[in-house]
Amino acid sequence: MSTIGSTAVLDRTGLEALVTALVAGGRTVVGPAVRDGAIVLAELDSAGQLPYGWGVELEAGRYRLRRREDGAAFAHSAGPQSWKNFLHPQREKLWSADRAPDGGLAVEQELPVRPSYAFLGVRPCDLRAIAIQDRVLAGGLPQALDSARAGDTPSQDTGYAERRKGAFLIAVECSEPGATCFCVSMGSGPGTDSGFDLALTELVDDDGHRFFVRVGSEEGAKLLDTLPCRTADAATASAARTAVAEAVDKMGRAMPPVDLHALMGASLEAERWDDVAARCLTCGNCTMVCPTCFCTTTEEVTDLTGDHAERWQRWDSCFDLDFSHLHDGPVRSSPRSRYRQWLTHKLGTWHDQFDSSGCVGCGRCIVWCPVGIDITEEVAALKTEAER
Ligand code: SF4
Ligand code: SF4
Repeated sequence: MSTIGSTAVLDRTGLEALVTALVAGGRTVVGPAVRDGAIVLAELDSAGQLPYGWGVELEAGRYRLRRREDGAAFAHSAGPQSWKNFLHPQREKLWSADRAPDGGLAVEQELPVRPSYAFLGVRPCDLRAIAIQDRVLAGGLPQALDSARAGDTPSQDTGYAERRKGAFLIAVECSEPGATCFCVSMGSGPGTDSGFDLALTELVDDDGHRFFVRVGSEEGAKLLDTLPCRTADAATASAARTAVAEAVDKMGRAMPPVDLHALMGASLEAERWDDVAARCLTCGNCTMVCPTCFCTTTEEVTDLTGDHAERWQRWDSCFDLDFSHLHDGPVRSSPRSRYRQWLTHKLGTWHDQFDSSGCVGCGRCIVWCPVGIDITEEVAALKTEAER
């Protein structure tokens, strides 16, 4: 019988059985799949929909799929979406109101949509990002989520807390980081030891295509016991450890080794902000793809009769002019001030607010920036300027 800390080995049939068991148990399984020229996160009915034999080429402002000979399913790094698309969706209705026949108003609160998610293929950097969003949106786990369920902690995002509380997380450690990954320098990858129900390490070698499994929760142990798996042999365990250890040296980038909180605080008037502002389009892509960015705004809509109104919560971005609108206009009207706000919050004042960095080194903001602005390069430039 498996327990927390148990290990096992699944082959492709075992992985298929894992997805089948989750679906049969009423879970909405979400994992990587090839769609529209990218590896996106999508609902899966079977493990056959995983991107077997697909890898990616990443660079600043560039993303391309490429075929792989080895048939690996998880040999790709972060795609355009993160798990926040499911836990903290782009748009969510908060309440609606209808004019009653007697002229009064009937207000209905929208109950959070809470599918019972199983996330397959959560990278260690994204596990860290989920933990950060847990802190920001739900006050941490697990007690705070219970409070949110009871509805007695108004500062929590109830919808997020509901979805997160029921989510089953299957991590997949990284053995092939992309050219824009820098999780090692942020302390968030390529391996992981906590925060998952099951963790897989994919191996494709002379001993076949298989997944080394570690159990991280009682629910994970219970599920593993229902699957066709075999006992983990020492050779497979060692190959898994080696694959993750070798990934450390394959990181495409690194955040400069500097006290980021102090650097951001000392760089408020840096000349580099003018340089980056001349390139930045203030499109907000970096905030949309970032797995930790959490800002939202609310908007009201009515129908043409004026008898029905709704309030929606939707993602917002500090690159949006309206984001800092106060009284007669935006407080941060220039691209310089908006980029500076994003970076100083992410790497500096996030520590003051949430006791951690807001960056996990996934590299998405580098890949999906249309002009290829690279957060590690900007920090290096700020560091050089500060030292000068
Ligand atoms: S840094 Fe890049 S992605 Fe972010 S707002 Fe500027 S142009 Fe857009
Ligand atoms: S700031 Fe960029 S690299 Fe860091 S977590 Fe966000 S998207 Fe990933």
